[in-house]
Amino acid sequence: MKATRKCKFGPAGNSLSFYAEGNKSTAQAFAWLKARGLDAYEYQAGKGLYASDDTFRIIKSKAAEYGIAVSLHGPYFISLSSADDDIRMKSVRYITQSASAADMLGADIFVVHSGSAAKLEREEAMRKAEDTLEKAASAMSAEGFEAKAGIETMGKINQLGTVDEVIRLCKVCPEKFYPVVDFGHLNARTNGGIKTEDDYKRIFDMIAAGLGPERAENLHCHFSKIEYTGMGEKKHLTFADDKYGPDERLFIKAVVSLGVTPTVICESDGTMAEDAKHMKNIYEEMIK
Ligand SMILES: [Zn+2]
Repeated sequence: MKATRKCKFGPAGNSLSFYAEGNKSTAQAFAWLKARGLDAYEYQAGKGLYASDDTFRIIKSKAAEYGIAVSLHGPYFISLSSADDDIRMKSVRYITQSASAADMLGADIFVVHSGSAAKLEREEAMRKAEDTLEKAASAMSAEGFEAKAGIETMGKINQLGTVDEVIRLCKVCPEKFYPVVDFGHLNARTNGGIKTEDDYKRIFDMIAAGLGPERAENLHCHFSKIEYTGMGEKKHLTFADDKYGPDERLFIKAVVSLGVTPTVICESDGTMAEDAKHMKNIYEEMIK
């Protein structure tokens, strides 16, 4: 596969240590990440897109200056599958707002959650999610946004977001909707189902079979250790965890063995930059 491309690693938002060292704003994050050898950053807008357009543009120029690839995590209140049509139509609006912010940030992808299937039959929830995405694709085209929307695999069993469901949702408009695989979520929703290198490879294979090899090669990923219960995801942990997993070394082994080059965003609780660097170190060691 593409020998010139390499995996990129970075944090979801800012580590506790970033602030402990006296930094105050995300504009300062890119020099900080570069100094630590990282090359990706996911801007967090889970609670909403509150920053000004100017702030987004400053982040874009700082990220470009230090060679950091930026992505955006869109609002958590987006629900593609809500039983309430008004919430779904508002979600179309939040998606176009996220696309606009992503373009200003220079982010090529923004991540959205598909929503809950708690109140509806799963198939009915999927149909609603597909309908919302059709409307979002039209709105994104009409407004001419360039960023792609990433549909994320989710950690709770009652959320839409198995690998198969994400593939099906991306198929609504494969030019605009890209899969985002959160391996911690998949491990949590299967109660620790990701145990071996092959378990990771199978997920890349499913993406390649469902959406084409290019989507698997350049996959946008989230990776963190996540505590789970019988219902799936409970809480994000750090790499100090050795109970819940999934195992980062086997993940990197699978990536290197397949020759794929994902962007890997670490969502550890407070140590996301440190744990991203830990994964990058393993990667650099394995590709030597
Ligand atoms: Zn997410």
